[in-house]
Amino acid sequence: MKGAVLVVEDEQAIADLVRAYLRRDGFDVVWARSGEQALEELGRHPVRLVVLDIGLPGIDGFEVCRRLRARTTVPLLILSARDDEVDRVAGLEAGADDYVTKPFSPRELVARVKAILRRSGGGASAVEGPLTADDVELDPASRSVRVGGEPIELTAREFDLLAALLAHPGVVLSRDRLLELVWQGGFPGGTRTVDVHIAQLRAKLGRPDLVATVRGAGYKVEP
Ligand code: CA
Repeated sequence: MKGAVLVVEDEQAIADLVRAYLRRDGFDVVWARSGEQALEELGRHPVRLVVLDIGLPGIDGFEVCRRLRARTTVPLLILSARDDEVDRVAGLEAGADDYVTKPFSPRELVARVKAILRRSGGGASAVEGPLTADDVELDPASRSVRVGGEPIELTAREFDLLAALLAHPGVVLSRDRLLELVWQGGFPGGTRTVDVHIAQLRAKLGRPDLVATVRGAGYKVEP
């Protein structure tokens, strides 16, 4: 038993498909038809990951995402019919860890669910002790980040991105390399996804100079 995945989807056919594939891989699945129901279910079951549709009756997926983020760090994968970049960025900004657009391959969806769980399971970093740069301190064991001693909240993905950069001080990591390290197997948004996350990370850290852009090459953190 690998723990429950909460699938928030109002379309029965899609919910059935997602459930069938997740169950085939040994996951327990809890199904919610609306955002309101999802928030209730989350208080009722231990949930390891949420697969979230955007177009829902009642509150939409972005709002669910924000409300979930206000109370939990549970990994979140958005499954949406909307494929324009604005929504993709909105989803990531609302705190999603990954984004899959419909029509989707159920096998790919399951692979992404597993990848997110691998990362959030603490296996993301082989580094034992805290990683630091300036007054930013990242502790892989507790998956926490402090800036000037004050804790800040990052999504799982932002955390892994910062961890990857801090683990390679002075080394320029290309967008492709970061996709490999942090997204393990790609992301539909491609390398642009890295830029979006870097921007969010800089904003949350409040240290715009900590992660330097190396034009035409990628990103790095100075030792
Ligand atoms: Ca829907």
